[in-house]
Amino acid sequence: VGVLKWLQRPKWNGRGTTDNFAGMVLERCNVYTQMLQPALRNVDCQKIQEAFKSSSISKNPCNITEEDYQPLVKLTTQTIPCGKTVLWSKAKETAHEYTRGDREMFTLEDTLLGYLADGLTWCGDAGTSEMNYRSCPHWKKDCPNNPVSVFWKMASRRFADAACGVVYVILNGSISNPFDENSTFGSVEINNLRPEKVQALHAWVIHDVGGVPSDPCMTSSINKLKSITSQRKIAFRCRHNAGLPHSLRI
Ligand code: NAD
Repeated sequence: VGVLKWLQRPKWNGRGTTDNFAGMVLERCNVYTQMLQPALRNVDCQKIQEAFKSSSISKNPCNITEEDYQPLVKLTTQTIPCGKTVLWSKAKETAHEYTRGDREMFTLEDTLLGYLADGLTWCGDAGTSEMNYRSCPHWKKDCPNNPVSVFWKMASRRFADAACGVVYVILNGSISNPFDENSTFGSVEINNLRPEKVQALHAWVIHDVGGVPSDPCMTSSINKLKSITSQRKIAFRCRHNAGLPHSLRI
């Protein structure tokens, strides 16, 4: 019994592929292109769903590369207007509440590519043409180059690289490290903003009402962000606010 149990153990430490992954991708694609952004009504959601599945099917899920997502990326091309990009770190709900109220502003999850994948898990396995619904590699416990991590790194890099005008970032002022150099924002997005087309980075540090008596824009964590932007020749402004911003314009 012990050996059998050992043989049947899940292969990876992370959650398996989300149930009905392909159906959810198709459904989300239809909602996004038919209802949310009619400018994209001509994209082929069936093709997008197939390209998304193919990115990891029959592949070792610890050996995924950004090239594996090239076909999907090509099918989901989208241009975000200058001054409308919203990045976030440790403040996902706040950022999405904000862009839900202002449909002109876009987080990565408000673009088609991010909308398709947000909250989902997926992976395949070399030697089968099925998704693995049992387990997928955990980004810390198993391997960094798993389908989900590589996807978000690739999508975040491209999103930041394409940004122009004033770029906004929503940070969490209720934690000690609102700017974390190891986060995707701190290690991927900030380094891929292009000084020649990004006029400035405006940070909005959101903290709970009543919390944090001192100015979160003056902390060493935000100072670190300020010094990185100045090295990269990008102007920086910071504002803090208790609760949700009515406008990100500073
Ligand atoms: P964060 O630390 O709040 O992380 C956001 C989410 O991504 C968390 O659920 C975290 O567990 C997960 N995550 C972070 N690094 C990961 C990795 N290497 N592999 C798997 N999961 C990982 O904020 P952040 O890291 O600064 O990322 C937020 C920024 O990057 C946003 O601007 C967004 O554009 C993009 N992003 C979005 C997602 C998403 O799930 N929607 C994930 C990563 C990055």
